[in-house]
Amino acid sequence: MKTDAFIGLGSNLKEPAAQLARAVSELAALPGTTLVAQSPFYASSPVGPQDQPDFVNGAAWISTALPPHTLLDHLQAIEHAHGRERLRHWGPRTLDLDLLVFGDQVLNDDRLTVPHRELPNRDFALQPLLDLKPDLKLPDGATIANLRAQCPDNRLRKLPPRDYP
Ligand code: AMP
Repeated sequence: MKTDAFIGLGSNLKEPAAQLARAVSELAALPGTTLVAQSPFYASSPVGPQDQPDFVNGAAWISTALPPHTLLDHLQAIEHAHGRERLRHWGPRTLDLDLLVFGDQVLNDDRLTVPHRELPNRDFALQPLLDLKPDLKLPDGATIANLRAQCPDNRLRKLPPRDYP
């Protein structure tokens, strides 16, 4: 059985849009997984320290037979393969992959909180989800559209498709 999962992508180092495009191909190549769609990419102002480049953010919709913790292992392996360094909390990064939504599952353990804890506060995660699936709902019934409407604005700028592969 496959589950629809939504992965948030972010980068603000080393050609961020190219990092995201590569990550989407890598997600599509995961075992037991197909890519359903990828969102447009957005430029966003950094959360936390402002003395760092803007981020590029997007999301991927996958259909996967992987269980959520195995999927997280793969996401972390992809982050590492992109040479992710975490120099400081909320600092610059080559690639950040977050498991935003995993079907209708609610998970809360020492490795995974799903839906992602910060999702309601992040327009750069909500907007790509809205682009991918306008009627998407969280397991508690909250609609992504309502969460997006209520979310603080982080000066999102949609990137023209020519700016990424
Ligand atoms: P960060 O790289 O700052 O996004 O945080 C990574 C840490 O968050 C890892 O230790 C994960 O185990 C944990 N984590 C908890 N929930 C999630 C989630 N939904 N997606 C990705 N990482 C998560």
